[in-house]
This record gives sequence, structure tokens and C-alpha cells, in this order.
Amino acid sequence: MLEDAKYYFQKAADVLDLPDRIREILITPIRVVKVDLVFDDDDGKLQHFLGFRVQHNKARGPMKGGLRYHPDMDEDHAAALANLMTWKTAVVDVPFGGAKGGINCDPGKMSDRELNVVTRKFVEQTKEVIGPTTDIPAPDVNTNARVMGWIMDEYSKYAGFSPAVVTGKPLHLFGSEGRDEATGRGVMVVLDEALKDRGKSWQDIRVAVQGFGNVGANAARLIAEQGAKIVAIGDHMGGVSNEDGLDINALNDWVREHHTVKGFNGGKPFNSQEVITWDVDVLIPAALEGAINPDNVNEVKADIIVEGANAPTSPEAHEALVSRGVLVVPDILANAGGVTVSYFEWVQNIQQFSWKKERVDRELTDKMRKAYAAVKEVALENSIDLRTAAFVLAIRRVSEAAMSRTYVEEDIQL
Ligand code: NAD
Repeated sequence: MLEDAKYYFQKAADVLDLPDRIREILITPIRVVKVDLVFDDDDGKLQHFLGFRVQHNKARGPMKGGLRYHPDMDEDHAAALANLMTWKTAVVDVPFGGAKGGINCDPGKMSDRELNVVTRKFVEQTKEVIGPTTDIPAPDVNTNARVMGWIMDEYSKYAGFSPAVVTGKPLHLFGSEGRDEATGRGVMVVLDEALKDRGKSWQDIRVAVQGFGNVGANAARLIAEQGAKIVAIGDHMGGVSNEDGLDINALNDWVREHHTVKGFNGGKPFNSQEVITWDVDVLIPAALEGAINPDNVNEVKADIIVEGANAPTSPEAHEALVSRGVLVVPDILANAGGVTVSYFEWVQNIQQFSWKKERVDRELTDKMRKAYAAVKEVALENSIDLRTAAFVLAIRRVSEAAMSRTYVEEDIQL
């Protein structure tokens, strides 16, 4: 997975004609932390889980990135996702660097007590390297506001009251209005821009979504509210489709109770993997990485793809889509709404002042539209696709910050 992130980086670095030594500095993480979390499970049996935190770059500010609890979590995943965070925070121009981490575990097989204990162990063993001005975790796959609340509580035991150590906290515990839906809202806003570019309106489009968690469910709801039809949704258990448009609010109620879209009676069941190749105008991968790959890319029918997930498209698939003229709004732009409102949450925590939801939504929308416009401008200037352009913009911003902080002999024009 790290190789994929490096591929996109190198491609953009070629556009910038970036010297090799600067490339090496920018691609190398500044710190890789691996911790062994030893704890008693509910049966009193000693268990070991590995936890990771990769801190990639801090040229533009404290490092920022999610915590993922998943059986696939490892150093390679954390490094690749940390790398993406550096470019993502730069694309939306929030004053953060990039980090990512998580625990190699399967939360589906763990009790709440076990999750709590493991989370607190992780904080205990990383407390020297995280903090409100160093590295600020956030939710990612299988972590949520509750887990963030535990992190704040545990870290505050060592450092004193520190709500700004983590974002995505519960609203009643120094969280921000609008944070829970922020990534989905950002997806909706960039899709609005992409539709304008393709001369389409919300009423024209049929949409398929992979994943119905935080990102997928919020994006589906907000997109349906604009007047588009969500015709297919697949998750880890199954899929459900309805050519007249799924009732997203009813589906949300179902998923709250059953933890999957499978079995929802407002549509027809299908094999979840088929969602990627569904006959739609817009595809939103919002689950895990590698969803669009060499095996299925030729069957993809959508002509706009908005990457709600991180790294859902492999480099080979990306090149195939671009050469077919598919408009791919890349992850580091499309799903940056989450980190943007995380930034707003951090600001509110530091100022000890809460913003109203209207302000959060307005400022988020503004940031996303500006980021889309900036990426598009770079794409048009260089005749490149939006993903390469997003990387060019981000690398330029990060390198400029890095060079301004240090003495450099050669004057590098980016
Ligand atoms: P989540 O845990 O809330 O939901 C994940 C969803 O993906 C679930 O519906 C699950 O059923 C589905 N899924 C898992 N494996 C699948 C499979 N093999 N096939 C189909 N569906 C599958 O996670 P989330 O927070 O919504 O994150 C989803 C993606 O978005 C991840 O790539 C994450 O890194 C990225 N992301 C999340 C945020 C955020 O704010 N939560 C921000 C930026 C990017």
C-alpha cells in the first residue's frame, strides 16, 4: 500500500521536477512507533495486540490523522495513510502535518471493556509522542467519538485537561458540531463541483456507494437530500439496490439496529462486490483501500468517482480510469472534510469556545470549494488529472513550508 502512495507522489514530483534529495526528505516519515498492548481479555486470558503510529511530516503544523482498529492494520498501512494525511492537510490548507495509526485487532470480536482497555493502553504507551501541539489522533475505520473520548480522558490523566489532544470527540465532551458528518458533507460538496464540471445536475444522476459507515452513510444522506438517486449500497455483509432510489433515512434506521445494509426490505439484495461496477453516473467508494483495482476497473461504469475512502483506487486502476476520461476526485481532496472539521474542533478546544453548526458547515463548504478550485487550476495549467494535481499542489505547499523553516543553499522554484 505504501508503494501506491509513493507512486502518486513520484508522479507529481516529476511534474514539479523536484530534486531527488527533496523527494527523499518528503517521502520519509519522521517517526514510526510500534507498541505491544498486553491486556487481560474478558476470559482472563493474556492477549497481545500491536499498535502503530506513524508520524510522517510536520512542516506545516502538528501532525494529524486517524486511528484505525482493523485486523489488516500494520506499519505499512499506517505509513501509507500517514503519507496521504500530509498531502491531504496541505490540499485543504489546514495548518497540520500528517500521521496515522491504529491497532491490529478485530473490534467486531471484542467487548466494550476490551476496546476501552486496549485504547487506554495505546495512549499510555504513546503519550510521549502525541499531544495538542505534536500529533492529534481522530476517528477512522472502527473507531468513533466514544473511543476519542476515552483517548482524551486517558491522555488528560498524564498531561492535565487536554481536549485538543484528539478530535472527533462526543459533542458533550468538547467535540464539534458537524464533525460526525463532515467527511460525508465534504464528499457531497466536491461532487457538486464535479457535476458542474461535467454539466450535470443533481436530478440527473444515479449514485452507488460502497460502505455505509461514517463516510458512506453521511455522504449518501446528504447527496440524496440534493435530489440525486442513491440506487445501490454495499457494505462488508451485503448490498441493497433500488432503481427508484433507496430511502436513506429508513436504511440508516435499519443499519443502526442490524449493523449492515444486508436484509433491508426497501430494496433488492445483491452481492456487495458488484457495487463498484454498478451501472451509475457516480460511484463513491467509502470503505477500504483497493476497491477499484485491475480486476474490476474495466467493468466500472460510472463517469465520476468521488473517493470517500482513503486509497480506494490502485495506481493501475487510476491510470485506466483517467485514460478513459473518468473524472476521479481523489481521496486527498474528496474526503478532506473530516480533517477540516477536526481542525475547527481543535481551534474551538484551544479557544474554549463553541461554534454553531451553521458556521461549521459554511466554513467547511468554503474550504472544500476552494480546495477543489485550487486543484482544478493546477490540473488545467499542467494538463494533468485531478489526483496528480492534488499531489502537485500539496507537495508544493509542504516543500515551501519546509524550505522556509530551514537554510537551503539552492533556490528551488516549485
Ligand atoms: P466505518 O468503520 O464507519 O465504516 C466502514 C464501512 O465500510 C462499513 O459500512 C463497512 O461495512 C464497510 N466495509 C468494510 N469492509 C468492506 C468490504 N470489504 N466491502 C464493502 N464494504 C466494506 O469507517 P469510515 O470512518 O466510514 O471510513 C471509511 C473510509 O473512509 C476509510 O477508508 C477511512 O480511512 C476513510 N476516511 C474516513 C474519515 C472519517 O472522518 N471517518 C475521514 C477521511 C477518510
